[in-house]
Amino acid sequence: MRHGLSKRKVGRQPQRGAARIARLEAQLAAQAALIEQQAASLAHSQKIFDRSSAAARIGVWQCNLADQALDWTDVVYDIFDLPRGSVLERREIVKCYAPESAAELHVRRSKAIEDRTGFGLDAEIVTVKGNRRWIRITACVESENGVAVRIFGLKQDITEEKILADRMRYLAEFDVMTGLANRGRFQSTLQELTASDAGKPAVGALLLVDLDGFKQINDTFGHMVGDECLKQVARRLEAACCGAQLVSRIGGDEFAVLTGPQHGLSAVSELARAIIERLGEPIDHCGALLRLGASVGIALFEAGTPSELLVRADTALYQAKAAGRNTFRIFKPSDTAGMPGHRAA
Ligand code: GH3
Ligand code: MG
Repeated sequence: MRHGLSKRKVGRQPQRGAARIARLEAQLAAQAALIEQQAASLAHSQKIFDRSSAAARIGVWQCNLADQALDWTDVVYDIFDLPRGSVLERREIVKCYAPESAAELHVRRSKAIEDRTGFGLDAEIVTVKGNRRWIRITACVESENGVAVRIFGLKQDITEEKILADRMRYLAEFDVMTGLANRGRFQSTLQELTASDAGKPAVGALLLVDLDGFKQINDTFGHMVGDECLKQVARRLEAACCGAQLVSRIGGDEFAVLTGPQHGLSAVSELARAIIERLGEPIDHCGALLRLGASVGIALFEAGTPSELLVRADTALYQAKAAGRNTFRIFKPSDTAGMPGHRAA
């Protein structure tokens, strides 16, 4: 009987073992399918991250503070023009930063590590291939038991954004044709220079320079030649006014010069004479000598708002034109400001 029982047990055991193995196999297969699914999902997320990271030119970086070992994602390698995955030496990478940016980065990084905080910085780099780029760095410090162990964050290539911002700043302040300061910059500089310092009146002068007979150049030779003349005039004006605070083009053929305290009455007269002489020299256009002249109206800062000074200089300019052109006049308080065609700043 016992023998018979044990025979039945022996017969059932392989069956039960096979069932368990089958169950385990099914569990393993299900887990393998799950892992495969998770791996596919991870690969998909990685692909999305890589693509958006590449499109936005943003990469991730980290530095282990114990041994200064650096770790970058591909985009950061690309930004620095370094082969992806190559060994990174922090001492070598620091050399890529422009001196001013390197100094700023050092200060910000040290402070962030000391305070266990973070920082943001726009920095200029020159890559190993000589490409000049601007990067936006964001950094966070990770600490363990109150000790900073790692600094990590993002690096984004913002070169295009920087170029656009610089261009917009340039357009807001400069005249594209001549490269001189434009009317907006002239007005803000006039405002700054004439702002009274501890109740003392500002010292300096505003010189308005208007070309004589410029329309004739346009009418005879065309606007393109007129434009070339304006560029030449700008260079000559800059050369004649090298000690001035600002040389600007504020309208068609009208330029404004702002001087500082070094130009007293006689120095301003001297400057006006130099401008007239320099702009009176013929301009060579394909062998033809074009003759231009200039009239100058001057207002000494003394007292008055920027608008009042502009009206005074304009009045003096009107007088210079009325006196036969190619000459200058300095506004005197006895003169009447507010003649026809005068504008306010
Ligand atoms: P005046 O001696 O009285 O100063 O007369 P003008 O012939 O110099 O002419 P005015 O100063 O009254 O006008 C300036 C002219 O400059 C008017 C316009 O045709 C021309 N002008 C204005 N802007 C430009 C420009 O950007 N390019 C060119 N080529 N001409 C310009
Ligand atoms: Mg003119």
